[in-house]
Amino acid sequence: MKGGKKILVVEDNIMNLDLVREVLKTGGFSVVATQSGKDAVELAESEQPDLILMDIQLPGLDGLEVTRKLKSTSTTRHIKVIALTAHAMSGDEEKARRAGCNGYIAKPISTTNFVDVINGYLAPDDAN
Ligand code: MN
Repeated sequence: MKGGKKILVVEDNIMNLDLVREVLKTGGFSVVATQSGKDAVELAESEQPDLILMDIQLPGLDGLEVTRKLKSTSTTRHIKVIALTAHAMSGDEEKARRAGCNGYIAKPISTTNFVDVINGYLAPDDAN
């Protein structure tokens, strides 16, 4: 499962951020992380990650706004963005998809299959 795919994790809650980072590192991914939506835009451009895990509830620039920015910028629009949200209510997934997110994961994450889910989103034939 090597290959060193790079994941940018955007999550303002440090405990969630550390958990996601550790699970991804254990799964063989290279991880870049930020707690700020504003920094996420810059990191996406400079780091060119293979996938972005985007918390929706962020202070300041929220995850939907960040995603819209990324998807309207030529240098970042190709990067898959997967929304992470604690508010697993109907309507949230639709909102995330309308903003340009390519997928959706509800928090709390399931650490047992998280890496499989991420690999599924990274697969070139992913239809989601
Ligand atoms: Mn948050």
